[in-house]
Amino acid sequence: MVNNLAWLWSAGTQGRTSRLRRKIALTNQVAIFGFAMVLPYQLFYFVDGLASYLGVFLVNLFFMLVYLVVLFLNHRGSHTSARNLLIGAGCSHALLATVFLSSAAGGHLFYFAVAGFLALVHERMRASRFILLPLGVGVLFCFCQFYLTPERALLALSPQQLQLMYISSVFGVLTLSAVFSYLFHREIDLAESEMTRNNRVLEELSSTDTLTSLANRRRLDDFLDRACQRLQRRFQPLSLIMCDVDHFKPYNDQLGHPAGDACLQRIADALRDTVCRQGDLVARYGGEEFAVVLPNTDRIGALQVAEALRTAVQDLSLPHIPGSDQQVTISLGVISVASPAATVTPAELIRRADEALYLAKANGRNRVEFTDYQ
Ligand code: GH3
Ligand code: MG
Ligand code: MG
Repeated sequence: MVNNLAWLWSAGTQGRTSRLRRKIALTNQVAIFGFAMVLPYQLFYFVDGLASYLGVFLVNLFFMLVYLVVLFLNHRGSHTSARNLLIGAGCSHALLATVFLSSAAGGHLFYFAVAGFLALVHERMRASRFILLPLGVGVLFCFCQFYLTPERALLALSPQQLQLMYISSVFGVLTLSAVFSYLFHREIDLAESEMTRNNRVLEELSSTDTLTSLANRRRLDDFLDRACQRLQRRFQPLSLIMCDVDHFKPYNDQLGHPAGDACLQRIADALRDTVCRQGDLVARYGGEEFAVVLPNTDRIGALQVAEALRTAVQDLSLPHIPGSDQQVTISLGVISVASPAATVTPAELIRRADEALYLAKANGRNRVEFTDYQ
């Protein structure tokens, strides 16, 4: 329901920061409320005999127009003017209504709502404003309460009529206070979920490699660290595969870095598509090197995955440098830890997997080599 009505008060909020958007929406909501609040009174004056209420009827009509102008100003992008006009209109409207009807009609109770609105739209109020604005509103309230008594009112209403109006005013102020509380609560909720969303995006960005969209080195270190801790707690095996593109320097030198980057992206996609078990991690270690962490996977499983990775890249059939009939391939070094060892550290795992990788290079490239964690 609230969301369906949101278009009514979203005038002027497009393209604004979320904080300003909320303030503009609040100004619009209060202006709409002010407009709607006057309607029953106008209806009452109309039904009861317009001639005797003409003054207050015209005053109300004028302020209804002003509330619409507030919406218009927000629509035009003049938020500060809209806000100031609404505060000014709220204060003068309550004062004039009390001049006509006296404090016994309770129109001046709306100063409580004005004070609430001030607190919501000026969240970074300077100390002087924080004191002066509510003080001004308080002075107006006291003036209405103690000076504008029924004897001084421009309209002479019966005690029953005044009581009815007082009850309507109390009802209106209470409703507006409830609306403010609801909006305040909603604002906090919105800000909180926006912050959570932003944090999630930032976290995602800070742990993703921009070229390949794989996990980056930061995420790899973190993941490996936790995998090592789990290994010691739960006695589950852990494997790590280090991959390195073969003869990638000449590829880059001859075809240029953009072609090299595109090649790395294709390889990254192939690695990601091959490692499909949830809980595994494929990361770009740096340059043209990739790392695959396989928690709860022993030597046999890791060797199978490594071989599948090697085949997947080979199956891409990416031609190597012009003049050679070779294709782009990768070499892989695998390390597995089968039993808990107090000394297992990410750095040591990477060092040992690198040793296996160098062995794969030395033994002719485009192959998998394995080393046991002693
Ligand atoms: P080997 O088979 O022994 O691994 O030979 P290699 O030429 O691949 O080895 P080396 O480590 O000497 O070369 C790595 C090259 O990878 C250096 C650089 O040209 C290239 N490279 C590293 N990072 C990037 C990158 O982000 N983009 C591109 N296009 N090339 C990169
Ligand atoms: Mg390298
Ligand atoms: Mg290389």
